[in-house]
Amino acid sequence: MRHLTLASALLTSMAVTTPAIADSHLMIVDDPLELTVHMHHKRYPAYDEDWPVEQEARRLTNIHLKNATVGSNTDNSGEAINLLLASGKLPDIIGTSRIKDVVNQYGPQGAFMPLNDLIEEHAPHLKAFFEKRPDIKAAISAADGNMYYIPYLPDGKYGRAYFIRYDWLDQLGLDLPQNVDEVKAVLEAFRDGDPNGNGLKDEVPYFARQWEELIRLVTLWDGRSSGSDTYHDFYVDSGQIKHPYAGEGYREGVKNLAEWYAEGLIDPEVFTRGSSAREYLLSENLGGMTHDWFASTSGYNRLSSEIDSFVFKAFAPPASISGKRIEEHRRIPIKPDGWAIGGTNKHPVETIKYFDFWFSPEGRNIVNFGVEGVHWTMEDGKAIFTDAILGTGRPVNSQLYELGAQLHARGYFQDYGYEIQWSNEFALEGIALYDEGEYLIDQFLGVAFNEDEQAVYDKYWPSIRTYMLERQQAWILGTGDVEADWDAYMGDLDKMGLNDVLAEMQSAYDRQYGS
Ligand code: CA
Repeated sequence: MRHLTLASALLTSMAVTTPAIADSHLMIVDDPLELTVHMHHKRYPAYDEDWPVEQEARRLTNIHLKNATVGSNTDNSGEAINLLLASGKLPDIIGTSRIKDVVNQYGPQGAFMPLNDLIEEHAPHLKAFFEKRPDIKAAISAADGNMYYIPYLPDGKYGRAYFIRYDWLDQLGLDLPQNVDEVKAVLEAFRDGDPNGNGLKDEVPYFARQWEELIRLVTLWDGRSSGSDTYHDFYVDSGQIKHPYAGEGYREGVKNLAEWYAEGLIDPEVFTRGSSAREYLLSENLGGMTHDWFASTSGYNRLSSEIDSFVFKAFAPPASISGKRIEEHRRIPIKPDGWAIGGTNKHPVETIKYFDFWFSPEGRNIVNFGVEGVHWTMEDGKAIFTDAILGTGRPVNSQLYELGAQLHARGYFQDYGYEIQWSNEFALEGIALYDEGEYLIDQFLGVAFNEDEQAVYDKYWPSIRTYMLERQQAWILGTGDVEADWDAYMGDLDKMGLNDVLAEMQSAYDRQYGS
């Protein structure tokens, strides 16, 4: 808390020296107006009125948010929103992670205000944003065509990439693998060639913190593992909704990955090792290749001070059996998190203007970087963090959350500039490499069901998904044979209702995104 107090003190002194007139165009009301807010996220289970970002927004807009969060004693935002809904009394503003399904279900019933007309008439920055990104407008619209929330919109394209031990390749006299066959040859060499030089056959050629990143490799056989940044998600193929785990490329990929697993090219503990896999296998000089986030994975090159010649860098997606190079994972442009206006809010115009403030150039800098003159300064038109942020040695994200910046339960448009300032050279080099190749593919941004569609989905989907994942793991581990089982598996999926679920998703998709 000392940190916050210091920041507030700095803020106060700055407010005195800043001419009030300079930002007067941002003022929403002449006299301070208080609006109540429920804000819940696992990182901040309540709205903190002392956040420097809140204080700065007050100074500039005269809108004061007052904390009215329900369920702050739990870190589960879903439980908190259920408690809030059950109370029957919604505050003026409701911000939470995973708000999309809540507002799409209860918005049309009147619990949340439709935003389309309010934006059209009172929110020029939001209006301009949605005119530029009609895909995002479609993605956040409910089944009745209205938008009921303003989302957190991540910025930056790249998420995960293929990483490999460049020094091991050198050691073994190998080039970077360019296609699926060369990947296999490299993993075999990692297994057999003792690249860590300890005389033991202890290398783990391919590993992953999330076992789903093993399934991701089906893309090397032209399969798919997901259509979005959520694992196991549906995907869109030329306007048709499909599920990756019912495709031919997936079958071929799983067949081959099962072989790789049996041959010791995959971490034998891939399904159980969990989130510490990367930390353990890299720091013990055992892991050879993975598929993981650019920034955090590049950070492991710090191990070069302990492991002689250690280099773990990104390489371009290997070509699939048909010659396609794709990177299936990317940052999704829109999250189901954000904020909405309560259906009984007496100040909808002021509230939408307040939402719009965060999309103005001034508000966007504050929500991304903190308070100007304290946490950042403007240099050549860009917000650049000061030592108050970069000089602490603490993770920048955590510091920003403590200021009330970069809160995903607030509707805002992230500025990737916030992250590039502390990405290391290896991450930037890898991103440049992926930029050259245009490997990213379009993502499925989700659908908003009507009641009938939702009922079909809820009835069938959970058990289908469970069955798919059970079969998938059995095939990889060798307790089933995907080739022999495939026809029966597809028959089971049909009997379990997969084609009904796909038909409902298709009708929702066509309504939402047009044909
Ligand atoms: Ca060894």
